[in-house]
Amino acid sequence: MPNNSCLVCNFTSEKNSFTRGKSCPCCGVTYGFEDTTNETIKIYRACWIDKGMPWFNKQEKPSDWEPFNQLKKIGLNYCSVCWFQFETDFFPWGEDGRSPTFTICPCCGVEYGYEDSSSQGIKTYRKTWLEQGANWLNITEKPKNWNSDIQLKRIENN
Ligand SMILES: [Zn+2]
Ligand SMILES: [Zn+2]
Repeated sequence: MPNNSCLVCNFTSEKNSFTRGKSCPCCGVTYGFEDTTNETIKIYRACWIDKGMPWFNKQEKPSDWEPFNQLKKIGLNYCSVCWFQFETDFFPWGEDGRSPTFTICPCCGVEYGYEDSSSQGIKTYRKTWLEQGANWLNITEKPKNWNSDIQLKRIENN
């Protein structure tokens, strides 16, 4: 990963200085502190996603910012349409974020690598899913403690 990318959110900018002690304008992580181990990176990232990926410094947010495009590069165990987080280490787009698995999301039913391969496709699929009541496709895989609020919060900003 180039050293002008944030390790937590993958925000990349020529202008941003990734110096120790500075906060990321996107996710707000303090460079050189919470991003020093894989474990703390994962925790910080999960908290940030659960909050709906808010910008720490909104003035630096590019008008064409697409959270999915940014996060896809990291390789995540989330569905980018419904933001269901897989409990196991399953990565819909592979660990490198570039190798879609072509499996079906048990929650919203999107096929990874197909309807979610563009941000427009994601938005269209998500809109339909929400309009139809945000139902689970495969109810047997629905976690007992599933909380739709958390997932909808993640969707809110993107
Ligand atoms: Zn960041
Ligand atoms: Zn999904």
